[in-house]
Amino acid sequence: ILTQSGTPYGVFTPYKNNWLKRVAPEDLAQHDSAPLAPRLLERPPEFQRPVPSLSDLGFEPTNLDSLKIPTGESGGQTLFEAFFERMDDYHATRDLPAVKGPSYLGVHLRFGTVSIRQLVRIALQRQAAGSAGATVWLSELVWRDFYFAILANFPHVARQAFKPEYDAIAWESGRQANELFAAWCEGRTGYPLVDAAMAQINQTGYMHNRLRMVAGSFLVKDLGLDWRWGEHYFAEKLNDFDLSANNGGWQWVASSGCDAQPYFRIFNPVSQSERFDPQGKFIRRYLPQLAKLSDKAIHAPWAAKPLELQMAGVVLGQTYPHPVVAHDEARAKTLQRYAVVKKSSAQPL
Ligand SMILES: Cc1cc2nc3c(=O)[nH]c(=O)nc-3n(C[C@H](O)[C@H](O)[C@H](O)COP(=O)(O)OP(=O)(O)OC[C@H]3O[C@@H](n4cnc5c(N)ncnc54)[C@H](O)[C@@H]3O)c2cc1C
Repeated sequence: ILTQSGTPYGVFTPYKNNWLKRVAPEDLAQHDSAPLAPRLLERPPEFQRPVPSLSDLGFEPTNLDSLKIPTGESGGQTLFEAFFERMDDYHATRDLPAVKGPSYLGVHLRFGTVSIRQLVRIALQRQAAGSAGATVWLSELVWRDFYFAILANFPHVARQAFKPEYDAIAWESGRQANELFAAWCEGRTGYPLVDAAMAQINQTGYMHNRLRMVAGSFLVKDLGLDWRWGEHYFAEKLNDFDLSANNGGWQWVASSGCDAQPYFRIFNPVSQSERFDPQGKFIRRYLPQLAKLSDKAIHAPWAAKPLELQMAGVVLGQTYPHPVVAHDEARAKTLQRYAVVKKSSAQPL
């Protein structure tokens, strides 16, 4: 999908509008993959290789909770059928990590055990029937293609910022940075929503989309760490890991990406928590040590009254960490750190 002048898109909405115009019913018809097999066999002998094993591909056995995910093509269908029942509500539920809102099909899309054509065909049908949820979900499927296109057309993004001026940013490094990174990876930042998100990825190999944004933003804009550190960690942990979507997501939070969040928009991890997990249900699920705090205190335990902490059995620094950084100070530091972007983009070429 290219612009009228034949160049790749750098902004999502016009890309999506063109994508929607170009997607034709015949592209979405059922595809019979059987005739493909003989074509593969026709390859010259020097290109014929045995099917690699999972360990050849670098996969290792795991005991993650995510093994509850229904697997294989039938598993993909089961998940999709279940999601179909709630697709119409997707726009309203997709941002709430405590609610079963999204499809959880990422892992099936990654491994090709569900057909993207089938998903798009059905989402288009629901959209035509007036479903707001289907419209938003379809848009997410288009984001997936958009990031494929970005990686294909701008392969430098795999290692560098999409916008080169962002490569001038000096990230934190050294012992303290390493310690902060370890606290983030292990869910010990002292910010409950971030820590619960990291517990989710560590225990299940999945993280809710809103939390990927919150935890990612925290790494980059609260801890001042290079987005590539977070990208690498997610790549190791996510069952739905996909280079283009992961890279696009990380460059979005770091503001260095294509059609990314502006650098001066910095998520406040406490207000994100109050907004998207208002009763702390998700936090309680992953951080049982905070379960007895009130709906108000659970988002920022350090701000709770000593008596409330005591009644809930929370001892800061023992049962749950103190915050590793103060958000307001970190925010100010980040704006300074990103000032270099303004300077370098103002310089003549
Ligand atoms: C920092 C960060 C890292 C991410 N890393 C990955 C990754 O490695 N692999 C991955 O597939 N997605 C990634 N995403 C996008 C998104 O978070 C996941 O696709 C989604 O959470 C997967 O859950 P789901 O299948 O229930 O999604 P649903 O909400 O049901 O969406 C359906 C499908 O649409 C696609 N999709 C949805 N949102 C996006 C998006 N923002 N960008 C691209 N495709 C999207 C995915 O294929 C997803 O499975 C990342 C987002 C961020 C902010």
